[in-house]
Amino acid sequence: MNRDWIDVAYLAAAVCFILSLKLMNSPVTARKGNWVAMGGMAAALLATMLNPAIKPGNLALIAILVVLGAAAAVWSGRKIQMTAVPQMVALLNGLGGGAVTLVALYEFLEASNAGITPEPIQRVTTVLSAIIGSVSFSGSLIAFGKLQEILPGRPLTFKGQQFLNMLLVVVLAGMAVGLLTVQGSSVPLFAGLVTLALVLGVSGVLPIGGADMPVVISLLNSFTGCAAGLAGFVLMNTALLIGGGLVGASGLILTLQMCTAMNRTLGNVLFGAVGSVIASSGNSALAGRQPKSYSVEDAAILLTNANSVVIVPGYGMAVAQAQHQVKEMAAKLMAIGIDVKYAVHPVAGRMPGHMNVLLAEADVPYDQLYELEQINPLFPETDVVLVIGANDVVNPAARYDKSSPIYGMPILDVDKAKTVIVCKRGMSPGFAGVENELFLLDNTVMVFGNAKTTISKIATALDSY
Ligand code: NDP
Repeated sequence: MNRDWIDVAYLAAAVCFILSLKLMNSPVTARKGNWVAMGGMAAALLATMLNPAIKPGNLALIAILVVLGAAAAVWSGRKIQMTAVPQMVALLNGLGGGAVTLVALYEFLEASNAGITPEPIQRVTTVLSAIIGSVSFSGSLIAFGKLQEILPGRPLTFKGQQFLNMLLVVVLAGMAVGLLTVQGSSVPLFAGLVTLALVLGVSGVLPIGGADMPVVISLLNSFTGCAAGLAGFVLMNTALLIGGGLVGASGLILTLQMCTAMNRTLGNVLFGAVGSVIASSGNSALAGRQPKSYSVEDAAILLTNANSVVIVPGYGMAVAQAQHQVKEMAAKLMAIGIDVKYAVHPVAGRMPGHMNVLLAEADVPYDQLYELEQINPLFPETDVVLVIGANDVVNPAARYDKSSPIYGMPILDVDKAKTVIVCKRGMSPGFAGVENELFLLDNTVMVFGNAKTTISKIATALDSY
């Protein structure tokens, strides 16, 4: 294939990537978006393989690796539990960062062996992609280890950690300047730069709590995108350049949106070590109160006596994989004329869109899903709110308790409903480590137990009404 056609294929791939991002904006079109992105990737891959510059021996090697990679991806994609998607993304992201580092290393060594000094812009992009790719690689592996519970999920801190990170950044900057200004190439200096960047990735992510990992992964994903874009520049590959730029920009936007939805700054996520301490509820009026524990039969009676029910799913529903039982129970309520809505908080669960994905998996119609701004005005008129494994996203302290780690986070105002039923296993706090006064309010009852078992028992109990 000649160079012009390769460029046309790369351009088509880039258009597919942009289109797919647009389509992924809505759950209705997200699946189509994935197909379009896959089409773009296939075009880019094919164009690369048909590049006459690739030696026939290497072509066979690339083909074998593509087949192996695709088989591993299909296998892991089918096997993965929805709750384990964040760690899978971390792993894939880390591999992306590692691949970019290898490209930079190869380009550097090739120039070094040939005794040529590349153009300044080539050298800058090579050095930058090596640094960012390495940070992303090791940081993502640590994020994977924390989420997979291979490493402790709590923030791992030690005295002088932030100073060490600052020092690493300064030394890395010095080495980068050295590599760019010294005549000829210094392989030991380049190897030192990659090693220090790997150390920075590890020491930067270790002090962050496991539950903040989705935000960190999104940020590292953005880093990998930038590094891939730079690698695209090094390799003069338009698809890689545009694709990397898109990942870099969209990853950063997603990171900032997640921080906004939690009302936290990126600095607080990265350096706040949130999740290491359990904070008590700020409402002293509730001190000494005990939660009211109801049976599943009592909960079923409350639900059947209601005209309107709002279901609030949270992380616990994801852990219990209770979405199908929830849909079945809701169908029974609707069959006896009760109005059922679902309230979806933007950061319920552990990744953006977590609840949407689970509810879509159970075929809950999209028109029954309400976003925070839509549902909050409706709570005072709602007879029963059924909270299933949600905690932080329904904690009223976020509205008034300035000392709470979640102060200012927009929450679902479920406490304003006439009755609230909370299904969870015990009184454990959620991700933010904050006690929840909702569980002690007069209009709240608790149904303790695993969400899947509880909801399925409620659904069975509904049959007798
Ligand atoms: P939370 O993490 O606040 O609470 C989940 C609750 O589920 C726990 O209190 C737990 O209580 C309960 N639970 C766990 N397992 C089960 C089970 N098998 N059956 C029933 N209940 C169970 O979840 P939310 O969804 O309310 O909030 C998400 C939190 O994660 C927010 O603080 C958000 O900021 C944070 N976060 C979200 C991200 C996102 O993108 N979605 C990204 C990063 C952070 P118990 O053990 O007593 O059962």
